[in-house]
Amino acid sequence: MTVHKRVYRKRFKIVLVPLGEVDYGVVNRLATNLVSIFNTGVDILQGMKIPKEAYNRTRGQYYSTVILNKLELLRSSSREKILGVLDEDLYIPSAGFVYGDADYDGKVAVLSLHRLKQQSLDMFDDEKLFLFRTVKEAVHQLGHLLGLKHCPNPRCVMHFTNSLLETDGKSEKLCDNCKRKVEPQILIE
Ligand SMILES: [Zn+2]
Repeated sequence: MTVHKRVYRKRFKIVLVPLGEVDYGVVNRLATNLVSIFNTGVDILQGMKIPKEAYNRTRGQYYSTVILNKLELLRSSSREKILGVLDEDLYIPSAGFVYGDADYDGKVAVLSLHRLKQQSLDMFDDEKLFLFRTVKEAVHQLGHLLGLKHCPNPRCVMHFTNSLLETDGKSEKLCDNCKRKVEPQILIE
């Protein structure tokens, strides 16, 4: 008799890390959204100070790579995908600013709320719009941690954007192509 053993693989877990003075209400609402989008557990760690050495006085911004290196120290298991959330503006040397950044090994990412808050000029409820942008950019960074690269589809959450107009134009979801690539990681129970 052949016994078919079902193989259960452990899912990844999302860990949110509030950095510096960040609105915990927003972090909580973000967590709730991420639970339903990725269908996995989301932990919120106690807040952490933004590493001082990440601050660039000349630019008045924080260097994301330095923050990523600090976040990596918090990681307690390979299942964890860590996302730091901060209110301050982030940069990398090759760009004026970034909404977020993720390391290449798929371990840690960081998201800045700074530029997502700009008021819209139309009829949207600004607070809802801000949360929606936050969710999209968080899903984008977590997508990188799951191995996804930028996607040419402007509606896909993995599409690269550097303006709010483009961010508002994409959805909070992965396109079918991107979804297929990460399905083995996010749908196994
Ligand atoms: Zn895509």
